[in-house]
Amino acid sequence: MTTLLGCIADDFTGATDLAGLLARSGAEVSLRIGVPTTPPKDTAAFEVIALKSRTAPVDAAIFECRAALSWLQDSGAKRFFWKYCSTFDSTSEGNIGPVSEALMADIGTSQTIYCPAFPENGRSIFMGNLFVGQQPLAESPMKDHPLTPMRDSNLVRLLEPQVTQNVGLIDRLTVAQGPDAIVAALKKLADRGVAHVVVDAVADEDLKHIASACRTMPLLTGGSALAMPLPALYEQAGILQAQTEDADRQSIAKEAIILSGSCSEMTREQVAQYCQKAPGFRLDPLELETKGPSAALAWLASQPVDAAPIIYATAEPEDVRAAQDKLGTARAGEIVEAALSQIAIAARDRGVRRFVVAGGETSGAVTKALGVDRLHIGAEIAPGVPWTFSESAGHAIALTLKSGNFGAEDFFGQALSVLDAS
Ligand code: ADP
Repeated sequence: MTTLLGCIADDFTGATDLAGLLARSGAEVSLRIGVPTTPPKDTAAFEVIALKSRTAPVDAAIFECRAALSWLQDSGAKRFFWKYCSTFDSTSEGNIGPVSEALMADIGTSQTIYCPAFPENGRSIFMGNLFVGQQPLAESPMKDHPLTPMRDSNLVRLLEPQVTQNVGLIDRLTVAQGPDAIVAALKKLADRGVAHVVVDAVADEDLKHIASACRTMPLLTGGSALAMPLPALYEQAGILQAQTEDADRQSIAKEAIILSGSCSEMTREQVAQYCQKAPGFRLDPLELETKGPSAALAWLASQPVDAAPIIYATAEPEDVRAAQDKLGTARAGEIVEAALSQIAIAARDRGVRRFVVAGGETSGAVTKALGVDRLHIGAEIAPGVPWTFSESAGHAIALTLKSGNFGAEDFFGQALSVLDAS
């Protein structure tokens, strides 16, 4: 099918989040990990390309994004979405603004909007200022982010040093008046030569007005929530037919495994809860360093194939610090990721077809090990965490990739039952 909207996301779990929100509509959504190396084939109405460009050098980010754009243009897309984090993660060099300008030049458009608001997750924009819950961005924990510390909350001021053309604002007073008022404001700004327009949004209703006003713009930029109303708008415009889930995807064998490399607070709860009802094996990074994952692999081989076990490196902060002090932070992470990757392959080879993976970096490592470069998006388990469908070594598999604090305490059990019910 011709692609209606080509999306470029600056990181992997951000891409999954966007794909999941688009798929809420029932439309077919496909996610590619990295810019595909082969020409478009068998494309979906919504194609999302996941890059790792958020903190890459500006030139590298622009290069990757332009390559992604070119592939999406080849798949027939005429409208594009540049997705970045709802906390506008960037520095005064970029990469949000410079990538937007490069995409605008390649697409041949003279104006775009910036709306990272995600009200469902507490991200709102008022008078150009971004809030995280009740805190202005620059007073939120993002002020201390190791790579992109956000020390200003005003998106107009944040964007200005990143771009060469003028930046303007459409504030909530205009947005609340609805799509026609937004269209008129955009036109007024365009007449004044404003290429980059920050748009306020504090509620889903605002995002609906903005998406409706901007649905035919060649390039939209923002968080995943801005894209959510687009499938319904395309249906109303008659360019997208409502679709039904591919029946094949529901018949994926039931054998499952949970792999967790996330040490976030919510994941720790989820692991503890799941361990009460299924067999579990804890990975110790220090033992992995000397002996590799042989004990875990032997344990896995001794489990009934339908036991849906969990293998996890998830640990309390003091244990993580102890491992990091002995091995170094990067090395500790690599060892755990490598072990979980090997375990994923072993599980697949013994017939496991459903993989629940916790951790953003961990998900990247496991999908790479399984040779997964494309995912079809299915039912949502928790906001921003869908089941996805792919192939590994010729087998149809289902994967869910959960970053740190997503999902509720019973997420792992819930994930398995969502797939059974769908
Ligand atoms: P999250 O989404 O919660 O941030 P990630 O998978 O992105 O999870 O990051 C967690 C990192 O911590 C991974 O690199 C993982 O390999 C590493 N890790 C997991 N368990 C441990 C542990 N017990 N000690 C040290 N590092 C660990």
